[in-house]
Amino acid sequence: MQVLVLNSGSSSIKYRLFDDGRGGDSPHGVGDGASVGTDTGGGALVLLARGLVERIGESTSTAAQTVVAADGTATEDVEDGIAIADHAAGFRWIVDRLEGSGLADDLGAIGHRVVHGGEEFSAPTVIDDAVIARIQAQIPLAPLHNPANLTGIEVARELRPDLTNVAVFDTAFHANLPAAAYRYAVPEQLLTEQGVRRYGFHGTSHAYVARQAAAALGRAEEECRLVTLHLGNGASAAAVDGGRSVETSMGLSPLEGLVMGTRSGDLDPAVIFHLLREAGMTPDEVERVLNRESGLLGLCGDNDLRTIEDRAAAGDAAAQLALDVYVHRIRKYLGAYAAVLGRLDAVVFTAGVGENSDTLRAAICADLEVLGVRLDPARNDGVRASTAPGGVAAVHADDSEVAVLVVATDEEREIAEQTLRALRALRA
Ligand code: AMP
Repeated sequence: MQVLVLNSGSSSIKYRLFDDGRGGDSPHGVGDGASVGTDTGGGALVLLARGLVERIGESTSTAAQTVVAADGTATEDVEDGIAIADHAAGFRWIVDRLEGSGLADDLGAIGHRVVHGGEEFSAPTVIDDAVIARIQAQIPLAPLHNPANLTGIEVARELRPDLTNVAVFDTAFHANLPAAAYRYAVPEQLLTEQGVRRYGFHGTSHAYVARQAAAALGRAEEECRLVTLHLGNGASAAAVDGGRSVETSMGLSPLEGLVMGTRSGDLDPAVIFHLLREAGMTPDEVERVLNRESGLLGLCGDNDLRTIEDRAAAGDAAAQLALDVYVHRIRKYLGAYAAVLGRLDAVVFTAGVGENSDTLRAAICADLEVLGVRLDPARNDGVRASTAPGGVAAVHADDSEVAVLVVATDEEREIAEQTLRALRALRA
């Protein structure tokens, strides 16, 4: 059976098509070993195609699909300057294109990434009208994300009513945070009436890389205490104890925590009152500044870490400061999470920056003997998770008490796995 994974944004739809390939031979290096410890009820999921429809609703849109053949060769097909008026047209393009490539002939389910599940959802959930209403009820908590995710769900249900749709929530892995970690120190009424608490995000990625890390350590997940660092354009840290998230850096929304590409991460909440009162900004303007114009971009004018690293290497002071603030914040969280866990078995780097930037990993792990972390520069240099065998590389020194692992995340594969799990539970 095939599973289509959709990640619907406000003007884009990212997708991947997997086959549950029971015992099948995946053409992928990373994917093959990557389902260790997962319960697909069959072999590793095989990636058949991936694609992206962009600039939906603009005068011209772009859509691209890459088909992955059984021998691993990838063929990309790009259509530029086409008209894709809305998400329904985008979904139709995807299904037409998959069918035109001789794929999607055994489609059984669609897994949807949904950013915010609030307190309602702690597991992948088969979608019906009642579930849609419950996801809609989370919109006030995630006004920037959930509406687009819902549009993708509604379009898929309308155009392919024959398929089972499953929602997989970014918050779900953190749903069992202890109260000491999820409560903000505010009156209880704000929690009970407004849902003001820490939820955490990137859960699909943290869950996936934590499982891969335990497998790479050769230990059961239940025995591992890990700090997972998802460092992409969005960034978050999680403390994972025995396969469960016990603390994480994002909060009510993805704005809290680490310095990100364009998000500020932690700041004194009084900054917001100051901007409202003294700068005369509206709440929407403050929200935009903190979400879209801050972080690395706000510090140095760029949010692509490669560009910032190049600028810093050429002596650009603002770029160097941006890197310093970014690294300092991560190190603070690493120390805090080591204290939360009480013991640290591994630090796990993932996502665009974590998987690819040896210099950032080295800066984050520098002089961390206090935590028992010692990187091996020769092992770390040039390592990229995507080219490491099985998508995992160990970059710590032999005498390091704590492992340092670079792990390729694969949120779409995890969503497909969870979708199949929800489907099997439905049929059981
Ligand atoms: P993601 O959101 O996971 O796609 O990550 C995007 C971030 O990863 C951007 O800031 C990129 O600059 C960064 N990134 C991707 N490749 C590299 C690389 N080779 N070195 C440094 N940063 C990278």
